[in-house]
Amino acid sequence: MINSPVAKIKERLTIEEVVSSYIAVEKKGNTLKAKCPFHNEKTASFFISPERGTYHCFGCSAGGDIFTFVEEFEGLDFKGTLKLLAERAGVQLSSFNKEEESEKERLYSVMEASTNFFIDNLNKNTAALGYLKSRGLTGKTIQDFRIGFVSNEWRRLHDYLKKKKYSDTDIEKAGLVKKIEAKGNSSEGFYDRFRGRVMFPISDSSGRVIAFSGRIFEDDLSINSGQVINQAKYLNSPETPIFSKSSVLYGIDKAKGPIRKSNFSILVEGQLDLILSHQAGFRNAVATSGTSLSDNTTAKENAVSNLGLIRRLANNIVLGFDGDEAGVNATSRAGKIALSLGMDVKVAMLPEGYDPADLIMKDGADAWKLVIKNSKHLIEFLLEKVLKNSKQDMRKVGRQIKESVLPFVYDLESSIEKSFFLKKISDFSGIPINALQDDLNNLDQGLKNEKQEVENITEANREMFRKDYILRKLLGIAFWQEGVKNPVIETDALMQNIKEVLNANYDHIIIKAKEKKEDYIFEAEVFYTNNDLLEKETTELFNNLKEEYLKEELVYTTKKLAQIEESKDVDKISQVLKEYQVIINKIEDLKNNEK
Ligand SMILES: [Zn+2]
Repeated sequence: MINSPVAKIKERLTIEEVVSSYIAVEKKGNTLKAKCPFHNEKTASFFISPERGTYHCFGCSAGGDIFTFVEEFEGLDFKGTLKLLAERAGVQLSSFNKEEESEKERLYSVMEASTNFFIDNLNKNTAALGYLKSRGLTGKTIQDFRIGFVSNEWRRLHDYLKKKKYSDTDIEKAGLVKKIEAKGNSSEGFYDRFRGRVMFPISDSSGRVIAFSGRIFEDDLSINSGQVINQAKYLNSPETPIFSKSSVLYGIDKAKGPIRKSNFSILVEGQLDLILSHQAGFRNAVATSGTSLSDNTTAKENAVSNLGLIRRLANNIVLGFDGDEAGVNATSRAGKIALSLGMDVKVAMLPEGYDPADLIMKDGADAWKLVIKNSKHLIEFLLEKVLKNSKQDMRKVGRQIKESVLPFVYDLESSIEKSFFLKKISDFSGIPINALQDDLNNLDQGLKNEKQEVENITEANREMFRKDYILRKLLGIAFWQEGVKNPVIETDALMQNIKEVLNANYDHIIIKAKEKKEDYIFEAEVFYTNNDLLEKETTELFNNLKEEYLKEELVYTTKKLAQIEESKDVDKISQVLKEYQVIINKIEDLKNNEK
């Protein structure tokens, strides 16, 4: 019998091994437990069962096997997770890929081919290579980061990819070309998005290239002659099916191991900051693209999930943004979210007008090391800024501290830390400590809410992950079994059951899922080919799905109850209480059936 790759991987990698490569696991007798990486907790409620190859958290009910763990921890999709674990277990995947490649698969492939094309071009272009070396990059660094180049012509990349038999649709969907619509006599055509640029590939945490950032190459003659003057210094890939702009951390594929080992991360802004930081020996640095720290809601959600990933790797972070005003603002925003996540946040004190790349290039790697070593706690950093800007004006100092320092104190986890910093602020500013305490208590609700907001986003992300994960697997099984000769599962009945649970959302969800049908089928096949437990696992998955939806209903009903209780309308209250009890009973029934 052929073993599925999943079975092979599980044979070679134990749950204990995988989990403890990410977080510290305590072993007491036969019990393996850890502090849960998926919610913020002080005592360990995350348990590992080596016999079953699973984990379960009693705090947030996260649970699953090595695949769910890596997927949720690293924020990867199933294929990315499979790639990582297969590499780690030394299991070959290629022979299994008999299905037609899915769209995402083709996009990864075209990105990989483009990366190699850009690398070839760089090696042929001494001016571009010279530019990178003049910025302090060594040949090895250029190779490690797979930096490339494309000359300033309209269709270099497009022509190359066409020769390699990639379709226009895929090349365009990957964001590599722009389309010219047919007009009059001329037919439709394509031209390269990136021209005359040094190319930095951006990878996800499993190392697949998902986007590019192209830096304009000013030494290029055509630019000097005025042809391309008003172009942006950096041009990034647009949103594509494999790249969501602000949800990615540059360098995470290389930095995640070193972050775990050193137990801290360094967050910088630009690609060159990151690359030179790695070259200087700080391989625990990751970079955020500027947009991911801007102030709107989506950006915030992305920042929470980016910083959440970093937090799971290590609780200590050093922010190394530019010393100018924009850099200080970015530091405050990222720092506030990181504090709200319960992280220990320090700031690297860069000279004004310097970013890490400038510093390393001008003053050497040791200068950067010293700055990291002397980094200050975020609150001290902010306090220093306020004191410097407000000079001796005490009223101004007081106001500024209340507005731009105390909200950060509010976000601190422990009351010991809180009083430590209140004392520090008092010592430096001369404001009595009880006045500061009063101000802290009277902070605007808006300033207080951030912590709650970050917790809500984290919670929502986690629930979304769990629900989506279960649903994806169930639909994958249904889509897959529909197409096999001797199905084990009655797909019509399964779909009908799913429909009853999803209710009004069903149609919308199915349409979305069908767009990714190939990926869903692939996953189900990899997991369940020749798996005797398919039927049993399908039932379990379905019950889990039902439970997730019932829990959601419970939350909703509890909120409704709280509202109605204020009205003191006895009939209404007893009505909602009944609804509440019905849901509780259903959940109990589900749990009893599992036993
Ligand atoms: Zn948990």
